[in-house]
Amino acid sequence: MQQLKLRQQQLSALQELLTSEMAVVEGTPLQVSAVEQAVGLLAQSLRDMRQASRAMLLSKPEDVQAVSAAVSATDLRADEVSRMARQLLGVLRAFPRRGGLRQEQDEVPGASPEAIAEVPTTSCSESSPLLGQTCCICLGAFAEGDALKSIQCVHYHHAACLDEWLRIKACCPLCKAVMPT
Ligand SMILES: [Zn+2]
Ligand SMILES: [Zn+2]
Repeated sequence: MQQLKLRQQQLSALQELLTSEMAVVEGTPLQVSAVEQAVGLLAQSLRDMRQASRAMLLSKPEDVQAVSAAVSATDLRADEVSRMARQLLGVLRAFPRRGGLRQEQDEVPGASPEAIAEVPTTSCSESSPLLGQTCCICLGAFAEGDALKSIQCVHYHHAACLDEWLRIKACCPLCKAVMPT
C-alpha cells in the first residue's frame, strides 16, 4: 500500500517535471509529441494506480490474492513508464532553452555560498512524511538520515542537490519560488 503511494508521488512528480521542461525547451514537433505521449502514459498509469489502491481497500479477504497480483502488475507497468519518463527527461534537459537567456526563469541569478549555507537543513527521520518522497532534482527517494533542505516553499530536496541548484538559480526547482534574500 505504502509502495503504491510512493509510486503515485513519483509519477506525478515526473509528470510535472516533463510538462515544465517541455514549456522551456525548443522541441521539434516529433519531440513534442513524444513528451505528450509520455505525459499521457503517466496520467494513465496514475489512474490505474488509483484504481488499484481502491480495489485493494475494498477487496474481500478471499479476493486479496487476485487483487494484489493485479496491483503488482500495475506497479510493474508504472515502473516501466516512470523509467521511460526519466530517460525522456534526461534528453529534454540537454535541449536548448527557448529564448536562451531571455527566459524568465533564467533571470533568477544564483545565490551566494553564504546565503545557501543559511538555508536550514533537516534530517529525514524514520517517521518523517518525507521519507520515500522523490527529490525532483536527482529523482532519488529520500532515505532515513538524508539531509534535506527547502527554501521558503513547501518543497524539500536533498541538501546537496538543492545547494548545487541554488548556486545556479536561487529558486525552488519545482514551484520557482524565489529564495528569500
Ligand atoms: Zn536529490
Ligand atoms: Zn517549491
